[in-house]
Parts: sequence; C-alpha cells; structure tokens
Amino acid sequence: MIVNRTKDILSKYNLYAKKKYGQNFLINPQVLNKIIDNSTLNKEKGVIEIGPGIGTLTEMLALNSKKVLCYEIDKDLIEVLKETLSEHKNIILINNDFLKVDLQEDIKKYFSDCSDIVVVANLPYYITTPIIFKLLQEESIKKIIIMVQKEVGLRLTGKPNTKDYNALSVLMAYKTKSRIFANVSRNSFLPAPNVDSVLLDIEVVKNDYKVNNEDNFLEFVQVTFMQRRKTLINNISAYYSIEKEDLMKLIESLGYDKDIRAESLTVEEIVNLYKRLFE
Ligand code: SAM
Repeated sequence: MIVNRTKDILSKYNLYAKKKYGQNFLINPQVLNKIIDNSTLNKEKGVIEIGPGIGTLTEMLALNSKKVLCYEIDKDLIEVLKETLSEHKNIILINNDFLKVDLQEDIKKYFSDCSDIVVVANLPYYITTPIIFKLLQEESIKKIIIMVQKEVGLRLTGKPNTKDYNALSVLMAYKTKSRIFANVSRNSFLPAPNVDSVLLDIEVVKNDYKVNNEDNFLEFVQVTFMQRRKTLINNISAYYSIEKEDLMKLIESLGYDKDIRAESLTVEEIVNLYKRLFE
C-alpha cells in the first residue's frame, strides 16, 4: 500500500511533510494511474516533473517515458530520492526551486533526443500560478498534466459569465485548451490538505489571434479584470489615459452595452477590443 510505504520512507529518513514547501504526498493509486493514463507518454517522450516528493509518481513516469527531469526544492528529499529511485537510470534529479531554473537551457541540455516534452506535477498550491506562467513561456512544452487546488482549477478553466472567469482564465483560453479530467479528494494525500484538488490537462495550442505585442495584450487582460465590479470602460480608463467618451463610442460601436464587464467577454472579444484600441 502506498500509504504505508510513504509513512515508512518518511520515518526511515526521519522526515516530516514540510508545510512551507506544500508537501502533501499522493497515496491514492487510482489517482496515480489517471495521471499516467492522461499523460500520453511513450518511450520517445521526455518528462519534466516539478516536486517529485518521495518519488511515487516519478517511478511510474520513468517506466513510461524515455527520461524524467525532476526539480525538487527540498534537499532532504533529494537524499531520499537518490535511494528510492536508484533502480531507474533515466531519472535526472535537480535540487533547485523550479521558479529559479533556466528551463530553456535545461531543455536543450537534457531533451534534445526526445520527441516531445510533457510536464507532470502535483503542484505545491502556493506557487501554482507562477509555475503555470513559467511553463507557458516555454515554446517546446506542448502538454502539461497538473494537480491543482480545486478552486484554482475552476478558475483556470473558467468560462465567460461565471464567477470563476478571470484574467487567468483568459490567459489559459488564449494559449491553451485546458480541461479538468478528474476530481481528487483531499484524502488522497498524506497529510490531507484542507482543500480538494483537480487534475488538469493543458494542451498548449497555437492561436490565430495574431496580437503584435503579447506582453501588452496580457497586461490589458489584467487591466480589464482589475476591479471586477467596475465596468470595462472604468477599468480601462483608470489605467490607460483614454477618455471615457471615446471608450464608450468604441464599446457601443462593437455592439456592447456601455456597462458591460470583462467577465462577459470571450477571449476573442477581448483580443478584438485590444486590437481596436492599441494596434
Ligand atoms: N510529487 C509528490 C507526490 O505527488 O506525492 C509530491 C507533491 S507535493 C504536493 C509538492 C512537492 O513540490 C514537494 O515535494 C515539495 O518539496 C516540492 N516543491 C515545493 N516548492 C517547489 C519549488 N519551488 N520547486 C521545486 N519543487 C518544489
């Protein structure tokens, strides 16, 4: 049983789950199988795992792929992993904060002989968003399978006119096709966290929006959602020096009510509005 093995390993190495690193170890074999089943791995593909923990998922990834590159922040766990994973010769362990590594450099170094790169991670909740931002900046990553806190998963896949739709949902819809493929109870972890989780399948796609300056566009998305209760016109005019009257004319010429809020617009509509204003 994974739960006993996890307890044994922690006690053998005199370790405890560190809260500051978001350590909640997966102990549910069905969830592990779901992750592997949805990762579309084969012996040609390389895997990046963020936060291998004591290596439960890592072993399965190693058996199903060409190689696994793991980033683990906790030095104590690296010592454990060296032993628990010693049978697998296709695992590379890096003891570093994933947010600090030069991902592009590492991909060049380790994955030149792999057909594709898949990212798999049971993410520490406190850094989910920056990790996703970092992954989406790396062009060679096309598929990401991640476990996130349920509320975050709902926001990442949020649809217009729902309470979960926000700037992050628009970014995800702009860059990816993402879906929740499993609900995961908090009891699937040791120790159990205070929240439930979901598994997300993120496929990075090329869109046809052709925005000239992506950074400016992504900033615009944040601005449109800056204060949820404010109208689109108020949020935009408060940040950019554009007269409200000019904005109102544009908004009405596009067929929207002057009081419309960003949460009612699809990603296509937000792109269109951005282009009319800035490009
Ligand atoms: N993958 C293991 C599992 O499923 O049982 C552990 C998951 S646990 C939720 C998160 C893991 O990420 C921990 O091992 C933690 O030490 C590691 N971690 C936390 N912050 C990190 C960071 N910034 N970079 C790399 N690893 C990190």
